[in-house]
Parts: sequence; C-alpha cells; structure tokens
Amino acid sequence: MKVVETEKLLRAQVKIWRSQGETLGFVPTMGALHQGHLRLVEAAQRLCDRVILSIYVNPTQFAPEEDYLRYPRPWVKDRALCQKNGVDLIYRPQNLYHPEGTTIVLEKELSQGRCGVTRPAHFQGVATVVTKLLNLVQPDRAFFGWKDAQQVEVIQRVVSDLNIPVKIEPVEIVRDRDGLAFSSRNVYLSAQERDRALAIPLLLQVAAGRRDRKKWLTQNLSKIKGIKLDYVEESQGRLCVAAWVGKTRLLDNWPISLK
Ligand code: AMP
Repeated sequence: MKVVETEKLLRAQVKIWRSQGETLGFVPTMGALHQGHLRLVEAAQRLCDRVILSIYVNPTQFAPEEDYLRYPRPWVKDRALCQKNGVDLIYRPQNLYHPEGTTIVLEKELSQGRCGVTRPAHFQGVATVVTKLLNLVQPDRAFFGWKDAQQVEVIQRVVSDLNIPVKIEPVEIVRDRDGLAFSSRNVYLSAQERDRALAIPLLLQVAAGRRDRKKWLTQNLSKIKGIKLDYVEESQGRLCVAAWVGKTRLLDNWPISLK
C-alpha cells in the first residue's frame, strides 16, 4: 500500500495505473476510520481495479465553534486498517488550500435546508473540497455513504452541474450491533449518551413504516431525555434526522418503507 502526501506523487501514481488501463475508485474520508468507511472501500474494490482513499480533515467545512481541532486523527490505526483491507493508496495531504485561494464551490439549492440551516457554511466547504479531490484523483467512480444523505445529494448535483467526469456511487449505512450508525464522532459519546442515542435508529426504523412518520418521529424523539432534535425531514425516499446527544450532533436516516 502506498501513502502519498503531495499532489505530484499522487498524480504520478494515478498516471501509472491509468497507463496500465486500470480503473480507479475513490473513497474520500476525514479519517478515524470505522466499518462504514470500510464498506465504501469494499464497494470500490468490487467495481474498480484500484482503490484510493483520502484522509483529510477539511477545515473549511467546520464552523469556528465546531470540533475541527479535537476531531480524532488516529493515523497509525487508520493506516493499519487500510493496509489490512486492501486499499491501494492513501492520499493524505497536509493542506489542500492555496493560502491566497479565492474560489469556492457553492451549491445553491440542495445545500440550503436541513444541515445547511444549522451549519450554513458546511456544504460549501464539502463541495469545494470534494471538487478539489476529484480533480486531483480523477477517479472513475467515487463512493459516498448514505449516512450523510444530504451530502450525497449535494455532491451528485455539483458533479452534474460542473460536468465532473466521475460516477458517484452511494453506499448504504453501516450500523454497529446495537443499531447506532457508525460515525467518527461516536467516540465523543459517554456510555450514557450512547445508550440514549440508540433511540434514534430504533424510532427511525419504526417511523419509516408509518404514514404519519414525520410527526410521529418528531413527537417521540422529543420525549427522550438527553436528546435535542435538530430536524426530521424526508428526502430521496428517506426519513432523515439530526439530533444532539449531549454536545454531539448525530445524523441518521432510514429508507421509507411506506410511501
Ligand atoms: P467522513 O470521514 O465522516 O467524512 O465520512 C467519509 C465517508 O464515509 C462519507 O461518504 C460518509 O457518508 C461515509 N460514512 C460515514 N459513516 C458511514 C456509515 N456508518 N455507513 C456508511 N457510510 C458512512
């Protein structure tokens, strides 16, 4: 497995693989890898000859009061997981931004509701960094988790609007045995908070099969001690939730089983 930090080395390796006629799958991440990320790697391995995974905690998608500085960065563990799971190359840039850069990618519709309300600059940071990464790696396919459903929608729109030649491959949410969706931010939860957080997937699953799902889920989640609801919305045939458990904001969603 190769680990590269510079654009020059990344492009050189990509060129070699391209010249051999190999297809490239790309999995962008912020590291602190878990089974959700590894499922994206598996999906990429199924569809592509080579898998490139990037690890970059992108500063522009965090607001000043958010967790950019304390976001987990377990590099040695991440590298070992990638090695064990057959990643071909980790791209690990130290910084992706020109100090004097003045260009951003701003998707103006799908990024506005839901998470865009609480995190107004988040999706412009995501759209910008993903566009940069896609230009750097130039993969055939890029893999994103439905865990971040709005992110999938925004990225699909950006790729379509800007004619970026890549196929976006959304991958279903991976959950821990207790039902909680894997997230790098789950490490912030105390044992008690994690227990409380389990109500989210439990109620979500029930609500997704009900006609009055939005109202029912809003009412029932609001009753749970220690959970502060941000939103319940429907999109892309999914019932989507964001909620704070203590100081940690969790996202989850479930395919709607009753239309
Ligand atoms: P992150 O490192 O949090 O930026 O996530 C990198 C990618 O992994 C994104 O496309 C996420 O949607 C995806 N991802 C994160 N958690 C999960 C999960 N539990 N199941 C599936 N995909 C996930």
